[in-house]
Amino acid sequence: MMQIPMVDLAGQYQKIKPEVDAAIAEILTNTSFINGPAVKQFQQNLEQYLGVKHVIPCANGTDALQVAMMALDLKPGDEVITTSFTFIATAEVIALLKLTPVLVDVDKDTFNIDPQAIEKAITSKTKAIVPVHLFGQCADMDAVMDIAKRHNLYVIEDNAQAIGADYTAADGRVVKAGTIGHIGCTSFFPSKNLGCYGDGGAIFTHDDELAKKMRVIVNHGMEVRYYHDSIGVNSRLDSIQAAVLDIKLKHLDEYAEARRFAANYYNKAFKACDKLITPATAAFTTHVFHQYTLVTHCIDRQKLMEHLQAKGIASAIYYPVPLHMQKAYLDPRYKRGDFPVTEKLSKTVISLPIHTEFDEESLKYVTDAVLEFVEKES
Ligand SMILES: *Cc1c(COP(=O)(O)O)cnc(C)c1O
Repeated sequence: MMQIPMVDLAGQYQKIKPEVDAAIAEILTNTSFINGPAVKQFQQNLEQYLGVKHVIPCANGTDALQVAMMALDLKPGDEVITTSFTFIATAEVIALLKLTPVLVDVDKDTFNIDPQAIEKAITSKTKAIVPVHLFGQCADMDAVMDIAKRHNLYVIEDNAQAIGADYTAADGRVVKAGTIGHIGCTSFFPSKNLGCYGDGGAIFTHDDELAKKMRVIVNHGMEVRYYHDSIGVNSRLDSIQAAVLDIKLKHLDEYAEARRFAANYYNKAFKACDKLITPATAAFTTHVFHQYTLVTHCIDRQKLMEHLQAKGIASAIYYPVPLHMQKAYLDPRYKRGDFPVTEKLSKTVISLPIHTEFDEESLKYVTDAVLEFVEKES
């Protein structure tokens, strides 16, 4: 029986092993574990790849979001609008900083924040919008930036899932996901499209002032050694992770291509099946398929997952509980039924394995197993 995991980091490592092993060995020898030359080098290469003026490396994607939010000098009670269909980190940092997360529903086809819903959620306390480029494609950033401009709001892109995706603006300019808002944030968690071998993250901005502030915040609010003019955090990307990332960055576009190959194979196989809705890509963005997520229609999702598991195929649900129904985030402002698209998606989506190491034989094994279940059930 084949074993098909959600990701294949071991297979990916085998292809870059000599380079990665040498880079790690060098750091073990030179012992510049923190803020070594590898960090600076990766920072500069990522700035160049993204076409962004400043990259600020940090410890993980959640910190990236928190530091970005701290740099905006918001006051407790200020409102930050984000999506109800995302990983918890997006809302978590808003709540941690005593700001008020204001949730809005998503588009049913792209699963990304619905700009019309943003507009309706704006109040006199709204200070920022955090669109998430979910599963690997960009949210409608022209619409988001237009709303932000009209209402004088900051935009922080949560780009943990779409690094490398291209966004085509209304004026025809093509830019990288995460470089469109005032600040972009990403995660280098191992399973992300650009993942390291531990935790890591980064913040992007074109704005010199914000960049300067965020560099101080990630370093204990310290500009001159042992003088602390603001309250910061300790959030660093370590040199070993930076060295690994610098090697993988060179392959990022190939990795996206490999993920698209798998996604296209899935799309073709499921196209004629009326029980499975394949993911749609908006016209203004490329899709880097951090996840390949189907919407199931009139089939028992749990049974499908069990059927796949029995055949050695992993699957997952991103995300089973909408943010407004998470215990820690229950809020009298929201009740079941407030975000119908999110609520329906949380009950019907299923993500299939997608990674950089798929061959046709394994893809066929997955699609055959899925289609076998669907036919048996109908
Ligand atoms: C992974 C992820 C994060 C958090 O990144 P960490 O590095 O795990 O802290 C934030 N937002 C989204 C949408 C993510 O997928």
